[in-house]
Amino acid sequence: MPGDAPLILLIEDDPQIRRFLRPTLAAQGYRLVEATTGNEGLTQAATQPPDVVILDLGLPDIDGLEVTRRLRDWTAVPIVVLSARGQERDKVAALDLGADDYLTKPFGVPELLARLRAALRRSAARAAREPEAVFAVGDLRVDLSARLVSVAGAEVHLTPTEYRVLTTLVRHAGKVATHSFLLKEVWGPPHVQETHYLRVFMAGLRRKLEKDPAQPRYLLTEQGVGYRLAVE
Ligand code: CA
Repeated sequence: MPGDAPLILLIEDDPQIRRFLRPTLAAQGYRLVEATTGNEGLTQAATQPPDVVILDLGLPDIDGLEVTRRLRDWTAVPIVVLSARGQERDKVAALDLGADDYLTKPFGVPELLARLRAALRRSAARAAREPEAVFAVGDLRVDLSARLVSVAGAEVHLTPTEYRVLTTLVRHAGKVATHSFLLKEVWGPPHVQETHYLRVFMAGLRRKLEKDPAQPRYLLTEQGVGYRLAVE
């Protein structure tokens, strides 16, 4: 039933990107609503609530940061921002304002579809209101209720701080966690600048959890932005 297909709201002024995304999303069975300005996008989001918003940061009226801020006033819908090269700071600001993920132009179809799948899974989990007690991907298993972490069935011992870094990522699995977000969650607001803390603890976690810490399979680096826990 077409009514059951996930509805995607695309807020993008670039006609080429809209032309490229239309058949791509249709082929995956998604329904699509398009808006070419920020204000039009906000109206669409309110009148026909989407399952995911794809939001360009550079729009002709209000910018994507403002759209993110206004959407987050009333909806938790996953937001995937599209940023151009050179918009690194805006991208991080959008994530800190509550956007879920980003794609840097030009992006490929597999990358886009993976981001959409992750976003839809998060909104489904939120709708079900079931806090996932056990997170599993590949060989990695994190049991939040028992506070047990294992790789390929073997228990791994983490320090309390390593465990907090990991569980913060688990709570946002699949989503980009910015440096400042992780620092605030784990160490507290006075430490949001101390990105070297994260590098140290991430290196420790990778040594304990990854088969090849130099080529991580689970704890992924988002260059200049933060980290992401893989969900597939
Ligand atoms: Ca644009």
